Amino acid sequence: MDQDLIIAGGGLAGLMQAVLLGSSGWRIMVLERSDGLSALSDPRSLALSESTRSILDAVGAWDALRPECAAVTHIDVSQRGAFGSTRLHAEDEQLPALGYVVPAGVLAKILRKAVDDLPNCTFMTQTSVEEVEPQGAGIALKIQQGDTPQTACGRLLIAADGARSALRDALGLHAEEVDYDQSAVVAEVEMDRAAEGWAYERFTGTGPLALLPHPSGLRALVWALSRKRAREARTWPDSKFCRELQRALGSRAGQVVDAGSRNFYDLTFRRVQQRVGTRCVLIGDAAYGFHPVAAQGFNLVVRDAAWLAQVLGDAKQEEADPGAPQLLEEYAQVRDTDARRVAGFTDLLARGFVMQNPLIRGLRAASLFALEGMPQCRTRLVRFGMGADLPRADLALKAGREGSAHA
Ligand SMILES: Cc1cc2nc3c(=O)[nH]c(=O)nc-3n(C[C@H](O)[C@H](O)[C@H](O)COP(=O)(O)OP(=O)(O)OC[C@H]3O[C@@H](n4cnc5c(N)ncnc54)[C@H](O)[C@@H]3O)c2cc1C
Repeated sequence: MDQDLIIAGGGLAGLMQAVLLGSSGWRIMVLERSDGLSALSDPRSLALSESTRSILDAVGAWDALRPECAAVTHIDVSQRGAFGSTRLHAEDEQLPALGYVVPAGVLAKILRKAVDDLPNCTFMTQTSVEEVEPQGAGIALKIQQGDTPQTACGRLLIAADGARSALRDALGLHAEEVDYDQSAVVAEVEMDRAAEGWAYERFTGTGPLALLPHPSGLRALVWALSRKRAREARTWPDSKFCRELQRALGSRAGQVVDAGSRNFYDLTFRRVQQRVGTRCVLIGDAAYGFHPVAAQGFNLVVRDAAWLAQVLGDAKQEEADPGAPQLLEEYAQVRDTDARRVAGFTDLLARGFVMQNPLIRGLRAASLFALEGMPQCRTRLVRFGMGADLPRADLALKAGREGSAHA
């Protein structure tokens, strides 16, 4: 099984990378350990930024996705038990939307179909990469396909094997991990009023809470709780969960009617020191794991994947080696600023807004008040969330030139 590029892991990151490499001309193989169905039933909802929208548009995936998304046109930011709040509006920023919420399973389904349609890509399920060994001009893989051991060889391995990446360790690219001692509760919640494009970001004593419009008409809830409180929350009956959620949310978003089923995710900060090694690149949760507070994780993955696709596409044009150390180093350097700023911002929000010291609470209230009176700062915040003001892959710029990108 000789290929040019091998992507290990067919979750959102691996799928996105394959779609973006679709027109590169390289032969690609995606190896997915599972039956490939679990990603399609991922219960989370993802908030996609404008930069992600424009990249999806550039590769022709946005048309299928748009009807499955709820647009966020207003964001209300507040903190529980204190004055001070601010509101962001798409109209003020001359944008059609501040973001788009899509069920992660729907996104995976659309990306998977796009991958299956690629002439230069093979997607193999029930196939796990077990061992890797860089060898001169290639990288040799031992893989397990069902019960059968196999070997494969590529010129570059893109490891997208998730948070517990065994390949990261096998490749010697160790990650720094810090446990937030928080878990996120994810649910689809019914409120007594329609969302009408409003998203609520609320900072509570135990962690931040986001209530987003959802294409079903329900709201997508991501609620970070201390690990201890999350353990209790797992046992709460529906009525108690709704009461506690209402207390945390206050009255600005209306009344909680029903909370449906809940899923819990332990939250950890994770960052690799080096995302590239000999003939390999880490992408997605294998490289980074950030707090979901500002809905940045997958959006960062998409910008990484777009840039890698551009670098590898250029290499194909020049008949260059896709695993050349210089090419991989350049890619890593270009993408480091973005990763650092997202890591810093999400970490600050995740930690800074749980501190209950009265002075810090006062400072937080003052900054929300100040933000409300400073439209230029609000614009900067919106542009940050969109991933604007950063060098962008040509892929995304192309979509911008075609008229839809504002970032
Ligand atoms: C609660 C929560 C909410 C979030 N909300 C947002 C949001 O609103 N916006 C946003 O931008 N981001 C968000 N994120 C981040 C986003 O979910 C992640 O960036 C994204 O899921 C990363 O997916 P991945 O493909 O890297 O990992 P995974 O989904 O874990 O995929 C890894 C895949 O690799 C396969 N695999 C593992 N080992 C092997 C192997 N040896 N060989 C072959 N295959 C293998 C696995 O089976 C799996 O399919 C959120 C995260 C959390 C936890």
